[in-house]
Amino acid sequence: MEYSIGIDIGGSKIAAGIIDRNGEPATKKVFSTPQGTRDSILLLLENIIFSLTETANFENKQLIGIGIGTAGQIDFYNGKVLSGTPNIRDWNDVAIKDILSEKTNLPIFLDNDVNVIALAEQQLGAGKNIDDLICLALGTGVGGGVISGGNMMRGAWGGGTELGHIVVDMNGPACNCGFNGCLETYASGTGIARMMREKILANHRAEYNGLAYFKHHPNEITSKHVFNFMLAGNEDAAEVVDQAIRALSYAIVSLIHTFNPSIVLLAGGVLQDGEWFIEKVRSKVASLGIQSLVKPVEIRAAQLGVDAGLIGAAMQSWVYRNNQKFSFDRS
Ligand SMILES: [Zn+2]
Repeated sequence: MEYSIGIDIGGSKIAAGIIDRNGEPATKKVFSTPQGTRDSILLLLENIIFSLTETANFENKQLIGIGIGTAGQIDFYNGKVLSGTPNIRDWNDVAIKDILSEKTNLPIFLDNDVNVIALAEQQLGAGKNIDDLICLALGTGVGGGVISGGNMMRGAWGGGTELGHIVVDMNGPACNCGFNGCLETYASGTGIARMMREKILANHRAEYNGLAYFKHHPNEITSKHVFNFMLAGNEDAAEVVDQAIRALSYAIVSLIHTFNPSIVLLAGGVLQDGEWFIEKVRSKVASLGIQSLVKPVEIRAAQLGVDAGLIGAAMQSWVYRNNQKFSFDRS
């Protein structure tokens, strides 16, 4: 049986494992992301690859490659992080594939963290065998991946499908990217928390519908708190959630108009236990846009959960092998 090393590099942790073609991890380890320079992350990656290769050899597991997913704009074809994310320090212009290729003979694939989630879902999860799908991951930010005609959409060098930075309001708030009114400023965990914080701070009553604590600790509020307050009947929280759902729905409808997908997958930590949220998005989306395009599209929750990034990273070794142009290997 064949195995691939998968590595999912996030802002706070790095998950790594030996994964089989069915996405089952034979070995899985989680490390804290080093908070120093890129060299400390690269050294950890080398150690992970060395130790997992040893384990595979010891257990007679045949490794066929190393797949890595990380946040940021990735030059997929050259295996390079071009511009990273503020969540990972010193993570700009890092030629990961070149650097790690000096330490291993295995083929190395590097892609954006949400592209690999889309890949995992398309290979093994809620989008299995579907050739036209869009995946949106709502977390600290909003990430996106688009599979169209059975291939990952990348653009000229791999930096495309930054779906979190679709503008849903030209007059909207400033975004980390330098633009304003991006989807991410409304529908990410940070965006939802920001909108609630603004409402709390604008309200001058001492007792604020059970939110008094957060009036004094506004930076502690999270999207999870907002959802809980909404479910408990708080009107401001309901308005914030409604705003997030509207922004998300407008972006989804624009994406449906652009890509004509069969399904839209919603992933990411913001949606934990959030079937009610997805149901609201479904009914909002259904009321918008060009009906011939919008009506047939199914909006589904992603299935693979927290391991999707790790599994999708590893899947690259099978999907892109033997293929110079990196279209999907259908064999
Ligand atoms: Zn933006």
